[in-house]
Amino acid sequence: MLGQMQDWPLLIHKIIDFAGAQHGRQEVVSRLIEGPIHRTTYGAVRGRALQVAQRLARDGIKLGDRVATLAWNTSRHLEAWYGITGIGAIYHTVNPRLFPEQIAWIVNHAEDRMIFTDLTFLPILEALQDKLPTIERYVVLTDGAHMPATKLRNAVAYEDWLSEADGDFRWAEFDERTAAGLCYTSGTTGNPKGVLYSHRSNVLHSLIASGLDALPLAPSTSCMPVVPMFHANSWGLAFSCPMKGAKMVMPGAKLDGASIYELLETEKVDFTAAVPTVWLMLLGYLQKEQKKLTTLKLVVIGGSACPPAMIRAFEQDYGVEVRHAWGMTEMSPIGSVAYIKPEARGETYEEVLKVKMKQGYAPFGVEMRIVDDDNKELPWDGKRFGRLKVAGPAVAQSYFKGEGGDILDENGFFDTGDVATIDEQGYMQITDRAKDVIKSGGEWISSIDIENFAVGHPDVAEAAVIGIAHPKWDERPLLIVVPKEGKTPTPEDLLDFLKPRIAKWWMPDDMQLVTEIPHTATGKINKLKLREAFKDYKLPTA
Ligand code: AMP
Repeated sequence: MLGQMQDWPLLIHKIIDFAGAQHGRQEVVSRLIEGPIHRTTYGAVRGRALQVAQRLARDGIKLGDRVATLAWNTSRHLEAWYGITGIGAIYHTVNPRLFPEQIAWIVNHAEDRMIFTDLTFLPILEALQDKLPTIERYVVLTDGAHMPATKLRNAVAYEDWLSEADGDFRWAEFDERTAAGLCYTSGTTGNPKGVLYSHRSNVLHSLIASGLDALPLAPSTSCMPVVPMFHANSWGLAFSCPMKGAKMVMPGAKLDGASIYELLETEKVDFTAAVPTVWLMLLGYLQKEQKKLTTLKLVVIGGSACPPAMIRAFEQDYGVEVRHAWGMTEMSPIGSVAYIKPEARGETYEEVLKVKMKQGYAPFGVEMRIVDDDNKELPWDGKRFGRLKVAGPAVAQSYFKGEGGDILDENGFFDTGDVATIDEQGYMQITDRAKDVIKSGGEWISSIDIENFAVGHPDVAEAAVIGIAHPKWDERPLLIVVPKEGKTPTPEDLLDFLKPRIAKWWMPDDMQLVTEIPHTATGKINKLKLREAFKDYKLPTA
């Protein structure tokens, strides 16, 4: 017997309809690419999203068509998403930090018909446009006054294009499983793969991710999504903020410490989220300029491991709660958040910090397990580590166009490619990417653990650990360090510092100072590049 309740489809435009109706005067503040701070409301964003939808329909964009966005976080980008999805077309977020050839590859693979672009990226697109045959029109996210001369095909200033529609339009009707968004994984090996979100998965993800124990939002929240909309849906915030009526503060192109600080303070932001590298810049700025954070209460940090020194700095020096989170593009992206359950509240701060260092527990809507090489489930004892697998309504079932084949195991679980432990309380801790784990004498060494401790040294700005071939042990760890300005720590300094903190056989065999550690387009340490750079390096112990 089926239940007799309404089949109310989970469609993205219902989110902006709700925000317009219930929180129509709530603000969306953006640092425009042209420079000034721009203020609008959910009521206005909804109206303009309807104009976008109407105008796209007039350009012949229809259900299932892909429309790329190459844009920073601003209210224009937000309107574009709701407008695109409102006619059943698919927003395809393109990460501008990718190499131009990669951008061309994914735009062609996605067969995008239009690109919405910020002014910042005109030079990239002008250089690429001959390689982008599917693009019929470029909409430049600016007004007529700021529209530069450009050779881009059918280029038009967004505001001029938009003004040709009056917004008297009805959202299209379709199934909630209709595709809504496309985002390619950075793909350190092989070609990038497209993750194709649906209306249903995005709506459910927003409900899952905005819980009090995750990325909490309410009409009283002033939220700054620093994490870009092109990095896994800005961790859902572009949907969950309007869904919860929270104020949005969109930082545009300026993500340096001074610019972020200015917006945090002037817009009274109390909640923000981004990858550790962004917070490294902000903390550096705060320390240098002797500034205080007067309104910020919570920062969610994820995308790569958040070092304990960063958690400590935010919490103890600035009184801002840190929640470490883990996820991936394939998960929309939230997989876990380190909210402290009552049973995990320790006696001392050091005990709590041990839990906060972990990547957290899976909220309702994410199922998680760790397995051994035979896909046998491992116990949640906080010690045994294995491949981390996940399932849920906002987890990918396959990649766009079937690339990579069948990606679920016989139980319907997706292999994240991460190696992790899960403890008795459900807290998961990432040991490594499976391909970064260091195999020494048949045992595994976690590069993340060593990195976390190394950045606790007062002279260290950033640290990375990679495995180097060793004749006896197979691989041994090499510590690579970017020193803080004006400091030159020696290998002895670092190794003495690590000695009481990690197991003897985990101790790096050597340390190298570098001026910069390479990062991927989503802000992760690029271990592939580091391994390449150190491929001829010989360990002193070899
Ligand atoms: P992406 O799809 O670009 O967001 O990358 C997802 C991958 O980033 C995950 O599979 C992890 O390897 C890594 N990652 C994300 N968050 C964390 C975290 N908090 N700690 C360690 N690794 C993380």
